[in-house]
This record gives sequence, structure tokens and C-alpha cells, in this order.
Amino acid sequence: MSFKNLQLSEPVLRGIQAAGYTDPTPIQLRAIPAVLSGGDLIASAQTGTGKTAAFALPILSRLDKPAPRPRVLVLEPTRELAAQVETAFHDFARFTNFRSVAIFGGVGYGRQRAELRQGVDILVATPGRLMDYVKEGVINLRDIQILVLDEVDRMLDMGFLPAVKDIIGRCSRERQTLFFSATVPPEIAAVASFALRNPARIEVGVNRSVNQSVNHALYPVATAQKFDLLLAMLGRIDFDSVLIFSRTKHGADKIARKLKAAQHSVAVLHANRSQNQRIEALQGFKSGKYEVMVATDIASRGIDVAGVSHVINYDVPENPEDYVHRIGRTGRAQAVGDAFTLVTPENAGDIRDIQRFIGQKIPELKLEDFPYQPINMTPPPRPAGQGGHRPSGRGHRPQGGQGHGRSQGGGGGGGRRGDKNKVGYSFRGRRG
Ligand code: AMP
Repeated sequence: MSFKNLQLSEPVLRGIQAAGYTDPTPIQLRAIPAVLSGGDLIASAQTGTGKTAAFALPILSRLDKPAPRPRVLVLEPTRELAAQVETAFHDFARFTNFRSVAIFGGVGYGRQRAELRQGVDILVATPGRLMDYVKEGVINLRDIQILVLDEVDRMLDMGFLPAVKDIIGRCSRERQTLFFSATVPPEIAAVASFALRNPARIEVGVNRSVNQSVNHALYPVATAQKFDLLLAMLGRIDFDSVLIFSRTKHGADKIARKLKAAQHSVAVLHANRSQNQRIEALQGFKSGKYEVMVATDIASRGIDVAGVSHVINYDVPENPEDYVHRIGRTGRAQAVGDAFTLVTPENAGDIRDIQRFIGQKIPELKLEDFPYQPINMTPPPRPAGQGGHRPSGRGHRPQGGQGHGRSQGGGGGGGRRGDKNKVGYSFRGRRG
């Protein structure tokens, strides 16, 4: 089915065409009619599935004409997501007269105030800064007809529940409310019960699943050799851009410092950096100024950077869900990607949890000719009551030297440092 059959407005269809989209993604096919119907909705979909357009396109089609007060409010958990989603609205709305504004903390108030004064139809905001303006009386939410809570699970994880409840209570009671979340744990169901009325439910792609377009593998290594292995990997990967995840902000800074010393161009993204530094890092990474970005989990959800060819988990994520989110930063929108996780003996339990969560065993690989120190990766005993389940191996595609059917992809653009001939297995060219 094409976008034309989805009853979207004419200017929005033109916006879609200008964005270069030809066919709706599965979440768009299902969510667009649901949103156009005016009913409430809980949609669970992984990031990277096109969920922003799944709500932005029908919302823009439902608005009739510009009005003095905002009628659409989209709540986002992070500044980066707020900026990204507002940009999407802005792009899709280019043939309409609707104005969208992003409201988030970490930057001055002056420019946002000036934008708000010009009138705005669609507000895309993080809860904290939005509440600053609401309390000051600069923003009034009573005309909000469509409320979107995006990445609700993340928003609640970040402690935004009181602000979110307050915001919901200030919006018109006659509104349409849409929840988008990668997962729908019980806490979300509780918020949904007071925020939504008879919601339709859509689930696209099981949130535990790893995108089929990502080849992922574990690289066991001694703790003392982690950085050396990372460097050796970067030296051999034929990459376009690499996103490296660290568990801590301090760790991210340290990795970045050492990579810079090894002549890599590196951006850093974590919550202790100023908003300007975060914007510069993200833009520099997107534009190719930086070949590597080292980030904490702030970047694991939703951030849309086209062409991340490799994700490297320098540290195993604490939360199994974050594994799916992190490696979902590559292999987005019809591209393929690789995701490698460095694993030390003390991570054995975390890996077991991740494998159980995603329902598959992640292949273990070794970097050829790397001077590995011996390690013992035997997992600690299974905690009582959790026995019985073994990772099924479902969805496991052959990796590396076992032949995985991926093409060399021309190698253009990647391999800035690598000598591809040194490589005997999974490191290879980027998509063709
Ligand atoms: P999202 O899940 O909203 O972050 O979208 C992930 C990526 O898919 C973004 O780069 C979108 O621009 C892209 N995308 C969304 N919908 C489509 C579509 N129908 N066709 C092609 N690309 C799309």
C-alpha cells in the first residue's frame, strides 16, 4: 500500500514525497489510520521503525488551520530527541502553514520565548523545560487536542512521571492521547489507565528482537586489554562511522581521550556535556567530521544518525533492553550494520540476561592475530528460580568467518584506517 491510500492530507503527501519516502513502514501502515480516526493509541515499536512519521504525518493531516495557541504537544525524554522530532515535523509540514517549536533545557530561554511569541501549532518538548514555561504562564496547554508521549518507557525511567502527570492534567480533557514506547511495562499501563480512553493497541516488531539488519557478536577479552582490543578493531573495521557505548560519563571521556591520542576524530555525547557541546558532537558525527562518537546510553534511544555502520559496546549495557536499543543505532532504515560487544569475565551474568531477553545466543568471535591474554568466561551460577531457560539461538545468523552472505559493499567511504587484507572474518565493507 502507498501513502496515497492512507487518507493523509494533500500538503502532507507532498511533504512525504519531498522527504523521499515511497512506501509506509509497518508501524506507519497501522498507526496512521488509528491516529486519523481520532482515538487514543498505545503503540509499541522499536526505534528506527519510522515511528516519528507514524504519528507526525496523521497529526499534521488532522490539524485544520493555524491557531494562536498550541494544539499538539509531543513529549520527549531527551533534548536530542525533542530536537530531532521537531525537525521531522518541520520537514513534513513544509507545504502547510503549521509551525512547530522544540522546547528543551540546557539552552537559554530567550530564543525559545521569541519563537513561542510568534505562535506555534506543534510543541515538541522535554517535560522539565515545558513546565518552566507553563508555570510562568508563557505556555497554556488547555487547547492541546493531541498529546503524544514518545518513548514513554524512557521518560518514566528518567523520573519524569510527576511532571508528565502534571502536564497531562493541564491538557484539554477532550484530547486525543497517543503513547509510543519500545516496551510497555506495567508502570506504563498504570499511566495509560488515567491518560487514555479505550486505546487501540498496536505492536510492531517485538521489542525484544534485534533488528534483522544488524549482525551482532561478542568479543570476550581480559579487562586490562579492552582498550587495546577496541583500538585493534577500529584499525581493521571498514567503517563509515562508529558509535561506541560506555556505561559511564567518565568512562566515555576517558575512551574518547585515548582514541584522540591514537589519531581518531572523536565526538563525545553524555549528560554532563553542555547542550552546545551535545549539539556539536551530534552534528559533527552526522556530518562525518567525527568518525567515532563515544556516548553513554543517552544516545541509545531514538537518536537517528543515518549511516552508523558499527556500534561497539565498550561496556556491556546494564539493562538488557539497552542492548537492543544500542545496537539498533546501526542497521537503520533499510541499511545493514554491525554491532560488537566487548565482554570481560565479570560481564558473564549480564550477557546471560541479554541473551535471555532477546531470546537468542549471540555468537562469540575473536579478532584474528590479537595477542589475547587467557581468560575464563564461565558464567557464575544461575540465581535460584531462574533456571531452565536456555537461549534458543533463534534468529542467529552466521557471522564472520562462517560466512554471512553480506557483500563487501564496495568499501567506499569506510576503512579510513583499516587494511582490509589483514582481516579474516567479520569486519567488512559497508553496504553497497
Ligand atoms: P524513526 O523510527 O522515526 O526514528 O525513523 C527511523 C528512520 O527511518 C529515519 O531516518 C526516517 O527518516 C526513516 N523513515 C521513516 N519512515 C520511512 C519511510 N516510510 N521510508 C523510508 N524511510 C523512512
